[in-house]
Amino acid sequence: MKCDKAGRYKQAQTRYKISMTSKYKIAVAGAGIGGLAAAAFLARDGHTVTVYDQFDAPAPVGSGLVMQPIGLMVLDALGVGERALNYGNKIHDMIGIESKSGRKVLNVTYDGTKHERFGLAMHRASLFDCVHHAAKTAGATIVSSTPITATQNLPAGRLLLSHERKLGLFDLVIDGSGVDSPLSPMQPIPLSYGALWGIVDTPTKPKNTLAQCYRKASTMVGILPVGFLPNDPKHKTALFWSLPRDDFDEWRNAPFADWQSDAATLWPSFAPYAELLTDHADLTMAKYSHGTLRNPTEDRLAYIGDAAHRTSPQLGQGANMALLDAMALAQSLRHKTVEMALSDYAQMRRWHVRIYQLMSRAFTPFYQSDSTILPILRDYLLAPVSDLPVVRTILQKMVSGELTSIGPLAKTARKP
Ligand SMILES: Cc1cc2nc3c(=O)[nH]c(=O)nc-3n(C[C@H](O)[C@H](O)[C@H](O)COP(=O)(O)OP(=O)(O)OC[C@H]3O[C@@H](n4cnc5c(N)ncnc54)[C@H](O)[C@@H]3O)c2cc1C
Repeated sequence: MKCDKAGRYKQAQTRYKISMTSKYKIAVAGAGIGGLAAAAFLARDGHTVTVYDQFDAPAPVGSGLVMQPIGLMVLDALGVGERALNYGNKIHDMIGIESKSGRKVLNVTYDGTKHERFGLAMHRASLFDCVHHAAKTAGATIVSSTPITATQNLPAGRLLLSHERKLGLFDLVIDGSGVDSPLSPMQPIPLSYGALWGIVDTPTKPKNTLAQCYRKASTMVGILPVGFLPNDPKHKTALFWSLPRDDFDEWRNAPFADWQSDAATLWPSFAPYAELLTDHADLTMAKYSHGTLRNPTEDRLAYIGDAAHRTSPQLGQGANMALLDAMALAQSLRHKTVEMALSDYAQMRRWHVRIYQLMSRAFTPFYQSDSTILPILRDYLLAPVSDLPVVRTILQKMVSGELTSIGPLAKTARKP
């Protein structure tokens, strides 16, 4: 369509007006990793942001996770990069051992021996502390004990509801309520395997390695030193043990010592950690599912994090992706109408999300499934191929989260 000079002038005027006055009233459902990061970015940009969570007091459950270089860049942009570094434990490489032969069948380093690039293993509570601090410092309001149940789209804005209570009309609602989102239309596919997760005081000097051991693809055991919890000076290590989602009751009804002894036989290096756990209650079962929203937006509504895309933590990207979503959304909203910003946000995140979701779907069965063929391919085909220099570089980029253009961070570089 052609646009005359007067029309162009009017458009420019409108754009200018938007850039000068576009401060919005925004609600975030869920004070998790993505929700709090979004709140921090948006409040810092001058929007009025209220975050609602179902919890009575901030108490993130869970164990360890790895902040990849892309996630660390977002934490830097939020002003809490140093805070995260003080909590976390740097991870330089990831190794995987096949239990029967003792062969190393996974060996990925972030950048060889230079160690300028690294992942940062953290306890979820410490990561929560970082994004919570960023959101509070930026001036976001955090309201607890308020489970979001629904939204309603009205001409004047989107109405947010909690148990039939009207919380208010907002220019934009962000759904960051995670895997149990009551708002997201996603229909995820449950994955057949989940994992038991636990946390112990690190019994030896912490290493800068995420170490795993595999028995076929049906058992995967992991040791992830995660650094410190807020207000606890003892170094912690997260442990995980994969389990079919339907086998949890059987595992819980068997003597705990049987599991400890199986774990020690499978991987002697795991024994000193397993000994620190005293009974079944020390391990929590996490069930995984896989799903991606085709479009993470609706009218005046944006889905971020697990509410928009969820998968197994095999590639360790979920929290990093939630942070990227938050940053992309806030960037899109600068100087734009909500409608334009939502379309920009979806565009900015499209390929990164699709590629990582696809890769996670493809790789997970090599490590967590009942297949007998996939672990053989993993150990005798993928392992030698992954030692080729070009494949090594691709793997480094993959774990770092940088396999595709990363939208909001395209112009940012983390300094070593
Ligand atoms: C065992 C395990 C290991 C993982 N390891 C990694 C890893 O190494 N690296 C990585 O990047 N990712 C990892 N992930 C994935 C990562 O934890 C998630 O992708 C990430 O936390 C998603 O962030 P989020 O903000 O979308 O949701 P969350 O951080 O889960 O936050 C959701 C919030 O919404 C709140 N909420 C829920 N329902 C409602 C409601 N109705 N109303 C109001 N509030 C509500 C919850 O209380 C919570 O505070 C792992 C996940 C699991 C389960």
